[in-house]
Amino acid sequence: MATGKINVSVDNIFPLIKKFLYSDHEIFLRELISNATDATLKLKHLTTIGEAKVEYGNPIIEVKADKEGKKLHIIDQGLGMTEEEVKKYINEVAFSGAEEFLNKYEDSAKDSGIIGHFGLGFYSAFMVAHKVEIITKSYKDEPAVHWSCDGSPEFVMEPAEKETRGTEIILHIADDSTEFLEDGKINELLSKYNKFMPIPIKFGMKTETLPKPEDAKEEDPAPTKEVDNIINNPNPAWTKQPAELEAKDYQEFYRELYPMQFEEPLFNIHLNVDYPFNLTGILYFPKLTNDLNVQKDKIQLYQNQVFVTDNVEGIVPEFLTMLRGVIDSPDIPLNVSRSYLQADGAVKKISSYITRKVADKLNSLFKNNREDFEAKWNDIKIVIEYGMLSEDKFFDKADKFALYPTVDGAYFTYDELLEKIKDTQTDKDGKTIILYASDKEAQHSYIETAKAKGYEVLLLDSPIIGHLMQKLEGSKENISFARVDADHIDKLIQKEETQISKLSDEEKETLKKELEEAMTDKSFTVQLEAMDSDSSPFTITEPEFMRRMKE
Ligand code: ADP
Ligand code: MG
Repeated sequence: MATGKINVSVDNIFPLIKKFLYSDHEIFLRELISNATDATLKLKHLTTIGEAKVEYGNPIIEVKADKEGKKLHIIDQGLGMTEEEVKKYINEVAFSGAEEFLNKYEDSAKDSGIIGHFGLGFYSAFMVAHKVEIITKSYKDEPAVHWSCDGSPEFVMEPAEKETRGTEIILHIADDSTEFLEDGKINELLSKYNKFMPIPIKFGMKTETLPKPEDAKEEDPAPTKEVDNIINNPNPAWTKQPAELEAKDYQEFYRELYPMQFEEPLFNIHLNVDYPFNLTGILYFPKLTNDLNVQKDKIQLYQNQVFVTDNVEGIVPEFLTMLRGVIDSPDIPLNVSRSYLQADGAVKKISSYITRKVADKLNSLFKNNREDFEAKWNDIKIVIEYGMLSEDKFFDKADKFALYPTVDGAYFTYDELLEKIKDTQTDKDGKTIILYASDKEAQHSYIETAKAKGYEVLLLDSPIIGHLMQKLEGSKENISFARVDADHIDKLIQKEETQISKLSDEEKETLKKELEEAMTDKSFTVQLEAMDSDSSPFTITEPEFMRRMKE
């Protein structure tokens, strides 16, 4: 038996660890399972390249709770540690073994998915435990080691009995952390952080129903058997190549991510890039309402299949936080402030890559199946309009496929619309006026009047369309938007033949006067027009600038 001091400069690091991460105690399990995963993947790598001459087999990681003994066990069948390695990797707190491993096997281990350097690491166990034991046996033919430490910097190391390869971590859970012994809590953490980790994780047993034997009678119950309860899917869809997946695989994965979402997503975007940064993922467009606030924080960020956060602010552009799905990138720095993230070069590249992929996907949907794209427009427009407003690069791409619906249910792109109205809807300065309504019912008579004159009237009702119109007015030449009840309509050069009014000039004068006297707001103008019999005999309009001022 040997005792020694953990090599840290402060006298007792553990109270510090506890305090430092007070709000995030639960991540200890993520850290320990990440280490167990690393240890297993390292062994896999060493057997693949012939450096470890042992059978890799089908290793799993097991989490076991011992409520009576107040202990939590995390057991792996990975490469284990020799006495020397425990001294080096555990006793020297500041030393990251994963980093050394990756340096040593730099070329061959790149794609092995070894996590390393993840967060607080092994010592986060002391956030919930007053004592921690390690029982470990290396794949190298060396005696097993038992290490234990009670939270002071002193540790004990002695030989152990363990026969099988791998590492068992035993946490003696502290009295203020007994919630971490509850099945419910453990299940919650496993499904939050470890749902898609690459090595199967077992927590307890479950009953599986087997198929009935051929000669079974109708009333015989189906046979059952007890099997390992594996809580994760080690091969989630985003880790596969798009060519391997069909539409139903994407749908199933959406269900896996959001078991409580009953609506199908509209479409998905598979992200897959390994240069100049590494990023995979699948984004889904859900049906979006017109509310900008309710649907954020649905994209989950992973690093090598370990859940990190569902707050991706700063990593994906704001307008895309309304989407759902997963992004996985080892290249996003963690444990740094959001403002640092936004300034980070790699993160900027990632963000603009995602924006570009989303724009390209939308463009191909538009090109390949316009009818379908039009049908979905109402459910996706909020993201596209928001994106056009906030990201100039996205604006440039989306300008080709963003749609402007008319009150009659036709859909134009901006260019198509302009082509259609440029000869009929210009004012005397040669400016093209784009007419729109925001409320089909309330503005009904104005809409009818404009249509009777042969004008196109758009139906623009999203909450940010006003801002988008301003942006368009600023970036396009010689156009202006006017709501259908504004006075612009009368300034348009009327090319159609004027109709004959049913009223005499005198009658018109009298009527106009009466109407004007009846109005309290003098910014409105009364127009008596020759109209179709089924439309209004007169209109009351307000200058567009007055209307915008009042808004
Ligand atoms: P990191 O994972 O970033 O290297 P940790 O503090 O989590 O830092 O772990 C330190 C080192 O301890 C690991 O790099 C590894 O060498 C060793 N280690 C921890 N857990 C295990 C395990 N279950 N099996 C084998 N080695 C382990
Ligand atoms: Mg670690």
